[in-house]
Amino acid sequence: MIGPPGAGKGTQARLLVEKTGFYHFITSREGKEYIAKHKAEDLETARQEKLYKEGILFEPEWLLRAQKERVGEILADNNIAGIVFDGSPRTLFEAENLPAFLSESVGKENIVGIVVDVSAEETKKRAGERLVCNKNENHVVSTRLNIGVKIGDKCPICDGVLQKRDLDAEIDERVRQYQERTVPGIEYLKKNYKVFIINGAQPVEKIHADIMAALQF
Ligand SMILES: [Zn+2]
Repeated sequence: MIGPPGAGKGTQARLLVEKTGFYHFITSREGKEYIAKHKAEDLETARQEKLYKEGILFEPEWLLRAQKERVGEILADNNIAGIVFDGSPRTLFEAENLPAFLSESVGKENIVGIVVDVSAEETKKRAGERLVCNKNENHVVSTRLNIGVKIGDKCPICDGVLQKRDLDAEIDERVRQYQERTVPGIEYLKKNYKVFIINGAQPVEKIHADIMAALQF
């Protein structure tokens, strides 16, 4: 499941996981867990932790190593019928290597790319609709999806207060990174695997329905 920042791919991955029972592979979370497990014995992994804390993406070669180990563990669990990769592949390197690795276990025909697509303009508009908790920046609420929520409301998760954050520069940078690093990966996937482009500028339920129809579930 791939898409530009703010496309709602995380929401769509979660809905797909709820419907299918597939394993929800959130790249950033899996990376952090791998770091916690291996940083003591592995300098390269310890270095990734430093990058992550500075807000820099994991190095692709290291990420692939971590992904291979975790995917091996997940596929060894017979109760898992599939994996939804949430936020992968994010680079051309990952697009060339992760599906190729998966092909060895599950077959190329069982790998499907879903691009939840929205325009750069829509991404920026949506970023402006996000309110962020003043106590924890991971607590984010969209005024588009949660009608009536406004600045100064109580955070739904903790006792913080929702604020607007000036994200323009940050969003521009994330959009630029997506176009420079991720789009070439999508182009590669299109040439080598089944890829569905889903219109992400629709209501959440309609996007989900389009994804289920594309996957023939
Ligand atoms: Zn909060």
